[in-house]
Amino acid sequence: MNYNTNEKGYYGEFGGAYIPEMLYPNVEELRQNYLKIMEEPSFQKEFNQLLKDYVGRPSPLYFAKRLSEKYKTKIYLKREDLNHTGAHKINNTIGQILMAKRLGKSRIIAETGAGQHGVATATVCALMGLECIVYMGEIDIARQAPNVARMKMLGATVVPALSGSRTLKDATNEAIRDWINNPVDTYYIIGSVVGPHPYPDMVARFQAIISEEIKWQLNEHEDRENPDVVIACVGGGSNAAGAYYHYLDNLEVKLIAVEAAGLGIDSGESAATSVLGKEGIIHGSKTLLMQTEDGQITEPYSISAGLDYPGVGPLHAHLFETKRAEFVSVTDDEAMKAGIELCELEGIIPAIESAHALAIFEKQTFKPEEVVILNLSGRGDKDLNTYIDYFGL
Ligand SMILES: *Cc1c(COP(=O)(O)O)cnc(C)c1O
Repeated sequence: MNYNTNEKGYYGEFGGAYIPEMLYPNVEELRQNYLKIMEEPSFQKEFNQLLKDYVGRPSPLYFAKRLSEKYKTKIYLKREDLNHTGAHKINNTIGQILMAKRLGKSRIIAETGAGQHGVATATVCALMGLECIVYMGEIDIARQAPNVARMKMLGATVVPALSGSRTLKDATNEAIRDWINNPVDTYYIIGSVVGPHPYPDMVARFQAIISEEIKWQLNEHEDRENPDVVIACVGGGSNAAGAYYHYLDNLEVKLIAVEAAGLGIDSGESAATSVLGKEGIIHGSKTLLMQTEDGQITEPYSISAGLDYPGVGPLHAHLFETKRAEFVSVTDDEAMKAGIELCELEGIIPAIESAHALAIFEKQTFKPEEVVILNLSGRGDKDLNTYIDYFGL
């Protein structure tokens, strides 16, 4: 079994590039150049230097002693929460801004839901002195005021998407429309392992720094490169793709993907795409997607803004179909409980996305000698109001 893309950008039956004709030149330019550019020594050097000096990598691999004692197994946390801007997303935006510069683009566009990817994009645009336009649903702009303020402080223009449900998928449509109208000078930074080929592969390669570091860090801790289990939450799937990347072909490493069940799988208020989704096309790629009988995209729900995406990247659809990864869904309540538990046991306030992954320990038991790595994708500062409201703090 192959877990990487083929030439045409397919992971098994998923992926590809289902795009309007008018977008073809933009996507094709990227497809023809991305691997070549990524492999250039000067690109590698600049990427790695920025990851080190600007993002603060390597992020620690931390042995969580009290959490391990409670769940009677060896738990390590990969601390993506300690990155600049508070999550793994910056790994990808640094990579893509360098790609944009190599392709000679001067104007950057992005879509954002909760605003995390918008902030990560606005950050690297400020870093490079490039114009930044972020499309965001009108509803999301109202819900995520602090991130809107951050983007503005960083010099980005935030454009409200006024059509449809005025959330992420509408913002995405606006970004695609912009790209069609500005094919020459504009680069579209996509925020997860989604979108038409080559985006899922390119984003996975930028995030692969996570498992590259885990290998040598685990060697220092345990004298072995391979853990028994790697756990990550999945929205679009980029932090999970990065944490799995160098273990995909090693079948002895068990991969667990945690999706947001929201109020429950059967509640109608959920974002558990692998269970609820059917094959369809979203964001230019064939993947699993939550949709109605007649193919309309279903509005997802999760308490965690970063996980309420109606699809999942094509790599993850393939990992699900082939059973290479085990998919587990976790409700709002289970995630919030696990989030507070990490605060109390380890002094770390996790992002609510990451708290979904942490909830696995109440659902599955691991052996005392097993080495379990959990990718702590982000920190909880951005979620303070949700924690306050939920627990009445
Ligand atoms: C955006 C986000 C996610 C979900 O995105 P993926 O592409 O699935 O990784 C998870 N955790 C945090 C902290 C995020 O900001």
